[in-house]
Amino acid sequence: MKWINHSLIAGSLCAVVSPPLVAPCVLGATAPDWMEWVAKAMGIRVRHRHQTHIFTHWLCFALFATFLFDFNGILAAFAWGGVCHILTDAMTVTGVPFSPYSDRRFHLFGGRFRTGDPMEYAISGIVVMASILLIAILGTGGSYIPFFPDWATRYEVGLADAVEWKNNRFRFF
Ligand SMILES: [Zn+2]
Repeated sequence: MKWINHSLIAGSLCAVVSPPLVAPCVLGATAPDWMEWVAKAMGIRVRHRHQTHIFTHWLCFALFATFLFDFNGILAAFAWGGVCHILTDAMTVTGVPFSPYSDRRFHLFGGRFRTGDPMEYAISGIVVMASILLIAILGTGGSYIPFFPDWATRYEVGLADAVEWKNNRFRFF
């Protein structure tokens, strides 16, 4: 899948949850591809869509960043951006490795289209529109959000202390 679509899909989904985290999320959404260049620049041999595209690695990283260690949500946003990249690459014909132990490729929705196919623009268009709709319904981006109590704002206005915010920032209900 092309970077523009990786960025649009991860970025717009992230904007629904937390607009300030879109930048690290988009960086993460392109990471599995630019990590291949970094590895090559360091003289490590990598196959395209292989070592940097393992689904279970990105998922573990994202869960770790979400529940164990994080830096202001930035690490989690980066990691979930990466998961999003892997899942959308999994919709292409080539697919991605599911885990380091499986040689079979992992496909989502049958892995029907090739990178650059109009289908991937259609998918990202749908995700972007759904996100805009969700943002409109939830009112993300400032005011009260029914399903995502905004602990960061409550902390800023002094209603909750730091510990309360830290404990509740991922509690969505
Ligand atoms: Zn990729």
